[in-house]
Amino acid sequence: MSKADSNDHSEKKEFVEETRSLHFIEQIIEEDNRTGKFGHKVHTRFPPEPNGYLHIGHAKSICLNSGMAQQYNGLFNLRFDDTNPTKEETEYVESIKEDVKWLGADWEDRLYFASDYFEKMYEYAVQLIRKGKAYVCDLTPDQIRETRGTPVIPGTPSPWRNRSVEENLELFARMRNGEFPEGSKTLRAKIDMASPNFNMRDPIMYRIVHADHHRTGTQWKIYPMYDWAHGLEDSIEGITHSICTLEFEHHRPLYDWFLNELDVYHPQQIEFARLNLTYTVMSKRKLLELVKGGLVNGWDDPRMPTICGLRRRGYTSTSIRNFCRKIGVAKFNSTIDITVLENCIREDLNKIAQRRMGVLRPLKVVIDNYPEGQKEWLDAINNPENEAEGIRKVPFSKVLYIEQDDFMEDAPKKYFRLSPGREVRLRYAYYVTCKNCIKDADGNIIEVHCDYDPDTKGGCSSDGRKVQGTIHWVSAEDALNAEIRLYDRLFSVENPDDPQNPLDYKEYLNPNSLEIISDAKIEPDLLNANLLNRYQFERIGYFTLDKDSTPEKLVFNRTASLRDSWSKVAQKSK
Ligand code: ATP
Ligand code: MG
Repeated sequence: MSKADSNDHSEKKEFVEETRSLHFIEQIIEEDNRTGKFGHKVHTRFPPEPNGYLHIGHAKSICLNSGMAQQYNGLFNLRFDDTNPTKEETEYVESIKEDVKWLGADWEDRLYFASDYFEKMYEYAVQLIRKGKAYVCDLTPDQIRETRGTPVIPGTPSPWRNRSVEENLELFARMRNGEFPEGSKTLRAKIDMASPNFNMRDPIMYRIVHADHHRTGTQWKIYPMYDWAHGLEDSIEGITHSICTLEFEHHRPLYDWFLNELDVYHPQQIEFARLNLTYTVMSKRKLLELVKGGLVNGWDDPRMPTICGLRRRGYTSTSIRNFCRKIGVAKFNSTIDITVLENCIREDLNKIAQRRMGVLRPLKVVIDNYPEGQKEWLDAINNPENEAEGIRKVPFSKVLYIEQDDFMEDAPKKYFRLSPGREVRLRYAYYVTCKNCIKDADGNIIEVHCDYDPDTKGGCSSDGRKVQGTIHWVSAEDALNAEIRLYDRLFSVENPDDPQNPLDYKEYLNPNSLEIISDAKIEPDLLNANLLNRYQFERIGYFTLDKDSTPEKLVFNRTASLRDSWSKVAQKSK
């Protein structure tokens, strides 16, 4: 079936076990392979415009395009669609390469730039002019728009539509030479001003732009429009299935028209539904606005739906690929609930994240009957989902920290944590019974006192006595200080982008999307954490070291909360 993930056994197994039917793009490819339409070849591409960072929607397209190539023993290209010099930057090119690679899509040696084809595209345009199928038009962009007509009224032909081939050739060459100001002329395809499809009403092929291009510099004074350029790029690269999002469905007749008129190799354009996610925006323009406006801390802010933001937050590429597989490929637009994505990362991290103990809001606990100055190194399981990951040692001593909300002075009956007179298990350590607590002048609890039972080492009693609760802790003198960043959804409404909303999308930013805890206490082993490790802080959630960390100050991002924190831990440790 697939050569995908051949070095990853768990994924491969999942793939084989899957019994889903083929999605519509697989059906098209299989039919084309059956008939030999493309010589039994599959060749796809991901064609980003380098005008921003990639987001989770792009991941869907990357997984689909590279996935189809892999699945059908084909090839996959990464091609920068860099036809708009004013918005594009090298910074974006580099980040896009990094993200595509990280997602596991392999373009091998096929990294291309549309700008490399500018000369060839120019020659093709000259061919169309010679055929009488393209003309230089002197209308301004506004005039062109005004003469486009309406769905029921045909457009008005441009007064320049019937220029001679010679005049068109000469003017087009002079446009290229930079002899005309921006907006004064365009090259238009001569198709049908009465077509019910607006895209066919003499669309613009080239516009004049006097701007530096990130790769070709000042060489070009005219730049191709998307519809003209894209099909040519696909054709030049020998793409078989040109997969794009649904908005381009009405552009397909134009895609086909250009390639037919030029009589060149002709790929098949196929449209699929773009990914929309709740509680987020996905347009690059809006994401750029959030970054430029300082409303988030850069493109890789862990709250952003960008690939680099998700990576920094602690998402794995496996989880994103699984997400893309799970949501499938369809021909109608829909919005996916963000919990689907969150569950994918939990599922992966539950398998791979090592467990550690960390206390976000520390409360001091003194074990009165534990010998002063004694320290024990207790065994703690690294990952109950994977025995091979072994154990580590955790220091235990007389003074500990627990979570503030794991103690309650007047606790209800069903509160299975610490409270005067109640016994709980300290994870991997001992049973302790709470004796009392100490308060400051304002009545805040500042210290809890307990006795431990030396016969319960490792968290099991020898007399078969059971406790209802297990809580996590760290040894006060051994704990590391850490800053913990807790993230919530970036927007507080499901669809911040909804055109029906009365307010601008920025008004729906969630004011509580970032909470910083500056004085958390975490177990000393986390000094070894690096940016690639993922951890589950027991009972709290999944965490990843942040790039802002220094040896003096560790910073962790919460990747995701635990769905079920409490009962599971209690059961497993029995
Ligand atoms: P814009 O055109 O507004 O700059 P874009 O998101 O379309 O933004 P591109 O760089 O053109 O950006 O996108 C590259 C590829 O990713 C295109 O083939 C596009 O169809 C696909 N893509 C973009 N957004 C999504 C999405 N939300 N879901 C699936 N595919 C997407
Ligand atoms: Mg686009």
